[in-house]
Amino acid sequence: MTEANAVQDAARDLAPVYRDLHAHPELAFQETRTAAIVADRLRALGYDTTTGIGGTGVVGILRNGDGPTALLRADMDALPVREETGLPYASTAQGLGGDGQDVPLMHACGHDMHVACLLGAAAVLAADRSAWRGTALLVFQPAEEIGEGAQAMIDDGLYDRFGTPAVVLGQHVAPIPAGVLGLHPGAAFAAMDSLHVVLHGRGGHGSRPEATVDPVFMAAATVMRLQGVVSREVAGGATAVVTVGALHAGTKGNIIADRADLHLSIRTSDPAVRDTVMAAVERIVRAEAAASGAPREPDITPTESLPAVRNDPAACARTRDGFAADLGSVLVVDPGPVTGSEDVGIFADAAGVPCVYWLLGGADPQAFAGAQDMQALERIVQSLPSNHSPQYAPVIEPTLTTGINALVSAARTWMPASG
Ligand SMILES: [Zn+2]
Ligand SMILES: [Zn+2]
Repeated sequence: MTEANAVQDAARDLAPVYRDLHAHPELAFQETRTAAIVADRLRALGYDTTTGIGGTGVVGILRNGDGPTALLRADMDALPVREETGLPYASTAQGLGGDGQDVPLMHACGHDMHVACLLGAAAVLAADRSAWRGTALLVFQPAEEIGEGAQAMIDDGLYDRFGTPAVVLGQHVAPIPAGVLGLHPGAAFAAMDSLHVVLHGRGGHGSRPEATVDPVFMAAATVMRLQGVVSREVAGGATAVVTVGALHAGTKGNIIADRADLHLSIRTSDPAVRDTVMAAVERIVRAEAAASGAPREPDITPTESLPAVRNDPAACARTRDGFAADLGSVLVVDPGPVTGSEDVGIFADAAGVPCVYWLLGGADPQAFAGAQDMQALERIVQSLPSNHSPQYAPVIEPTLTTGINALVSAARTWMPASG
């Protein structure tokens, strides 16, 4: 069997698995069906397979002689989003959300593609063991979307039980053209901090504002003022995002509520910028509460915090050279730093080894037909549904084949057959 055939066979085999995973999304730490499919396939391929790591995580190990260990990682969880792709394999699934409410479920971030690609790479690595030497440590991680899965697997003894890798490798599907990879050395994915803010007012009748402290007005002023943090306090060349993604207050037009709840998501790439932004957000929230005459101080509670993903530059160069040698037809671009966040860096930080994490193009290449330059390409990327959108779904091909090829290439680069 030739190399190209092994990848083609894996991609053909995994396309229905991808559609099945897409139709059956599962929320963070509830990925039991997905984990069972993964474990069955890994066992059938001869991987030493363990389930239930860090909750619902799966580890598959293939030992192939003396040599380095490379960790290849895919995340498995989906999101509480109602799918609107109109695809024949679109999800209609419902599940139990964090607050105990029924929520629609969708693989709106493409983690189903990550799983299918890594299963494909598992098959290709098992099929041709003469092309690499070492230990392939395949990690199928739960709960990336809530930023807890990687840490849960580390805390469950991932490295004590299965050994420490020499490198952490992985990919995330993105709305760049399928058949293209994006690899940025340095700060590749932003740090994320999520905050829950409660602004306290004094409730009362909607006809008597003088007897109340209106938290809706306080929240509106806070949201507007927070948008000055990035534009007025962060240098033009630095990267930061402040998003108020949720704002809840009140029940009825003639009732002034007694509190407003805000949920913020903050992205930064540089620790000093992060400190500046976090301090500014707290200062503004407290100052707007004081400006309204709030009866008490606001509550500001951090709910999630993820470090930035730093791609090791030397390790990126080595991996990229491997892509160039193995994937002649695949274009590798530098997308610059991404403001999205990821917990994959936790695997590398915990092992003290380099991380190489790239973007896997998932957008229909036909959407880019006629684009003459980078600016035209970027305009098209911005017009396409992004990850987490109800319309987001990668095209299966050439995404799946490219993703399998990229993982196999990176694995062989870090576990060379000779040397
Ligand atoms: Zn996501
Ligand atoms: Zn994701």
